[in-house]
Amino acid sequence: MSKENLGTALVTGASSGIGATYAERLAKRGYDLILVARDLGRLNEASARLSAAHSVKVDVLQADLTVAEDVRKVEKQIREDAAVTLVVNNAGIGYGLKLLDSDVDALDRLIALNITAVNRLAVAAAQTFAPRGKGAIINIASVVAIVPELFNGTYSATKSYVLSLTQSLNAELAERGVKVQAVMPGLTRTEIFERAGGSVDDLDPKMVMEATDMVDAALAGFDQGELITIPSLPDPADWQALDAARGVLGPNLSHDKPAARYGIR
Ligand code: NAP
Repeated sequence: MSKENLGTALVTGASSGIGATYAERLAKRGYDLILVARDLGRLNEASARLSAAHSVKVDVLQADLTVAEDVRKVEKQIREDAAVTLVVNNAGIGYGLKLLDSDVDALDRLIALNITAVNRLAVAAAQTFAPRGKGAIINIASVVAIVPELFNGTYSATKSYVLSLTQSLNAELAERGVKVQAVMPGLTRTEIFERAGGSVDDLDPKMVMEATDMVDAALAGFDQGELITIPSLPDPADWQALDAARGVLGPNLSHDKPAARYGIR
């Protein structure tokens, strides 16, 4: 496929880690890019490097996605730039402490980035792509979405939000020709741990995937049409069983009377 057919991928959090890797891999595929993050120096360096290496157009959009005005600037780009065909909603931060030790203002900033910005940009992309009958949205969640007891509760809940949002978006968009994917990485070697006051070197190396492997697997899942991609999961039937259990609950999630075990009537 020629790069004219691929269009432009807008990648948030493209200055390091998973987002920088997506930017590189998508440029290699022939996408033009719009790189979004706060660190202009890193974005400009990536822009120069990727445009030279892959002969694609790479623009930079500096934005702090915890600031409403900056989120709206990125949203405007998605809504008004007809070349944008793929949005990778990746920017996110972690938090190293348990809820009982957390600074609740810091958790608000985490929610602003990991939920509010993601929601705004995903909805903008959905509303823009649906009438065109094409386009794709990749949302970076985490495996902690389904094991929230393991990490900071607010961080885990933001990733459950991303998973839920993606499943719901897919229910609306699948028949409109728009592709949606939630990627659920396990531990991945990036700066996220250092930024949260820890160190990736403190983690069991057998559980830590390289960002290049994680993104390559996620893009392979995207190519295979997966809605949910868990890069480390050997048998997809394990995820399908969890998902199928929701379907079993389905017929009993809303009735006019409480269940008999509550003894109400
Ligand atoms: P990272 O290397 O720390 O990258 C985070 C990216 O987000 C950077 O480009 C950073 O750029 C950007 N960012 C941070 N705060 C921002 C803000 N206020 N406004 C705009 N951009 C901001 O971490 P990563 O591991 O690649 O994280 C990427 C995504 O993967 C996150 O959503 C994370 O939750 C998810 N994830 C990571 C892991 C893991 O183990 N690494 C596992 C599961 C899920 P600037 O500092 O330049 O703004």
